Amino acid sequence: MIDVDDRLARARRAMSDADMSALCLSVGSDLPYLTGYRAMDTERLTMFVLRTDGRATMVVPELEAPRVDTSSGSFEIRPWAELEDPVRIVDDLLRGVDRVAIGDQTWSRFALALQDCDAARRWVPAGELMAGLRIVKSDAEIDALRGAAATVDGVVDDLVGIRWSGRSEIDLSRELKDRTLGGGHQTAEFAIVASGPNGASPHHEPGRRIVEPGDAIVLDFGGHQDGYASDTTRMFVVGTPPDGFDEAFAVLRSAQEAATAAVRPGVTAGAIDATARSIIADAGYGEYFIHRTGHGIGMDVHEHPYIVSGSQQELEPGMAFSIEPGIYKPGEWGMRIEDIVAVTDDGVESLNRSDRAYRIVT
Ligand code: ZN
Ligand code: ZN
Ligand code: ZN
Repeated sequence: MIDVDDRLARARRAMSDADMSALCLSVGSDLPYLTGYRAMDTERLTMFVLRTDGRATMVVPELEAPRVDTSSGSFEIRPWAELEDPVRIVDDLLRGVDRVAIGDQTWSRFALALQDCDAARRWVPAGELMAGLRIVKSDAEIDALRGAAATVDGVVDDLVGIRWSGRSEIDLSRELKDRTLGGGHQTAEFAIVASGPNGASPHHEPGRRIVEPGDAIVLDFGGHQDGYASDTTRMFVVGTPPDGFDEAFAVLRSAQEAATAAVRPGVTAGAIDATARSIIADAGYGEYFIHRTGHGIGMDVHEHPYIVSGSQQELEPGMAFSIEPGIYKPGEWGMRIEDIVAVTDDGVESLNRSDRAYRIVT
C-alpha cells in the first residue's frame, strides 16, 4: 500500500519548485505512482488533476469509477457519464491555472483538445517532474524489484534442463513467458529468444527459426510482479559455441562486471557507460556495441536514469537500473548480459544473481 498523502505532498512541492500550478496525469505509470490507480488505456479519458493550491480530482469514466480506491481521502473522484464531455470537466477543474504539467503519455487527442480550451494557459510535459519523484526508490520499491528479479533468476536456472534444439523461437518464447507467470509474475510482457544470427538484432522478435546445434541464443525477458518490473538477459549455447564467441564473451563478462563494480553514489551514469564501453572498445569490439549500457527500472521497464554516454546524472542510493552491455556480429551471433542493480549507501547490490556464464544446453 502506498502513502498517497505523502506522494501527493511530494508532487505538490516539486510542482511549486517547477513553477507549475497544476499537474494532469492520464495513462501510464505516473498516475498509479501517485494515487495507486492505473487508468485504462482507452478512448475514454481518465485524468487526475492535481492543483498546487490544494484540490485533487480523479476524472474517470463512470463505468471505471468502482475500481478507484479513494480510501486515502487524499483526492476526490469525479465520474463522468457516457454523454458528458470529460475535457470540459478537466478544463473547469483548471479554472485560474496558468501553467500545467501534463503526463508524457497522454493521448494527443486529449492534450490538443485541452490546449484548445484556453489559449492563455501554458502546457508543458510532466516527464521531468515525475522522473524526479520516481527516480529514487523507497526500500519497499527496491524490495519489490528484488522479488521480481528473484523470479526471473529462478526461471533462468530451470531452463538449463529443457530441450532447446529442434524448437522454434516462438515456442521457446511462449514457454519462457509461461514459466515467468508460473514463478509469480502477474504479467510477462516480453520474452526475446534470438537464436544464431538473429542474436545480432538486440530487440529481435521471436520467429519461426528452429534452434540448432551450434547456436548461441540471447534470452532477454521480464514482466511485472506486484507492480514492479523485471528484466534480465542470459546466454544459452546449444552444444559448442560458434567461432569467435568465447573470446568475445570473456570481454563482455568483464565489461558487465566492471560496470557493475563501478556503481556507487556520486558517480555519473555516463561514467558507468564509459566503463563498459571502453573495455569492449579496447578489445576491438567497439563498433559491435550499438546501444546504451542500461536504463532505469521501476514501475516501468524503461525509466530514468538512463545509463548512456555523456550523462551527467549522478547516482544516488535507491536508484535502480540495468547494466546490459552487448556485442552484436551481424550475420553471425549476438550476446548480452543484463542485470538489474540498485545503488546502495556505499556501493551496489545486484538484484539478479543467476550465473552469468553462458549455459550449455541440448
Ligand atoms: Zn532492451
Ligand atoms: Zn533492459
Ligand atoms: Zn532486457
